[in-house]
Amino acid sequence: MSDPVPFPALVLDGYRATTFAYDPESERASSAWVASRAPPGTRLPGRAEWVAVFRASIPEFRKRAASDARVRDAAALADRFAADFDAKLDAVLAGAHEALFEGAPTVLKLCKLRDECLRRLGFEDCFLDVKTAENARAAAALPSVLAEIDAIAEPAARVLQLVRGAFAGNIFDLGASKSAALFADGGGTFHDTRDRKLKPRPWCVDDFDAFAARWLAAGSRESDEGQRSAAAADPKPVSEAAPRTKTTPLASPWRKCVVFVDNAGADVALGMLPFARELARGGCAVVLAANAVASINDITAAELEAFLERVAGFDPVVREAVEGGRLRVVSSGSDLPVIDLSATSRALAEAAAGCDLVVLEGMGRAIETNLAARFTCDALNVGMVKHPEVALCLGGELYDCVCRFRKAGE
Ligand code: MG
Repeated sequence: MSDPVPFPALVLDGYRATTFAYDPESERASSAWVASRAPPGTRLPGRAEWVAVFRASIPEFRKRAASDARVRDAAALADRFAADFDAKLDAVLAGAHEALFEGAPTVLKLCKLRDECLRRLGFEDCFLDVKTAENARAAAALPSVLAEIDAIAEPAARVLQLVRGAFAGNIFDLGASKSAALFADGGGTFHDTRDRKLKPRPWCVDDFDAFAARWLAAGSRESDEGQRSAAAADPKPVSEAAPRTKTTPLASPWRKCVVFVDNAGADVALGMLPFARELARGGCAVVLAANAVASINDITAAELEAFLERVAGFDPVVREAVEGGRLRVVSSGSDLPVIDLSATSRALAEAAAGCDLVVLEGMGRAIETNLAARFTCDALNVGMVKHPEVALCLGGELYDCVCRFRKAGE
């Protein structure tokens, strides 16, 4: 990225793009709040466990790389990637990584190491086929997901469904070995996860009530008045073919929101887009920040822009928001599945000026790199826990949910 700048609403003082210490004997967790999550006496994961997390990701990457039709000799090069990255992880485990990166290992440095190993061999986007297929599947499911949300008349219940959708979509994650195995088995679908499998509240970090109270403090917008009673009388899920049941949009107390999205497919399409759409139709200008460069199955800004155009073709709310400039995509500048908010693109910094809500979504961005980040505006971190090691650090369980909300300056 040329000329990176800090994200405008980030408190730079004391910021590190890492939440958990990969070497707890030599460094502490990023904040007292993070350190307080695990029950006293918990043996926290150390360097060996975190290296093992990255080693467990190799088979999925090798599989995707081997089937990348855009790369000549993909199968042989995929084996070479696996061997290269494995050897580098050996060096990190032994503490002999001074040639690989400066200072102690962190999640960001190990993600970067893995992506560099792939890119050096010509694998620029070996998850492209699965992203494209999952985007198509999610686009087909989106009208019914939107209709279900729109039919929820009770404001707090609608916010809860939006947040639950963000968690459920986030299960599509091929960078974590557990969720990649779930995906390969055909499990972890959006509806099944949202409606049947999601961990009951309270989640391991659960500020949902404070977040919903903040959102709903603004009252409701009356632009669709008259529709509300019809929706309340018919709470059944609405089929794709049925006309959309409109309810009153939730008025947004925020004027401008930046949403850092994560994965392609169900994650961004069925989780974050409905969330952003509700904010936008409530009067908030929403900036969707996505990667500049492909990394794992994360959606890129270019892909998201094309997807948004597709959705605008069938959803009048999204079309109006896009045409009115209240919903747009900006490149974050990142080429990683995590994000360092002290070095984002200038375009994002300009688009984010004056934002009063930042939403970080996904395990990499919201939990592993920025759970302890502080902001000068309201901030929401939402993501599903897909590594047992992360669960241990947070005092939760595998597939637990994180919903951390802080008001400006907290
Ligand atoms: Mg991701």
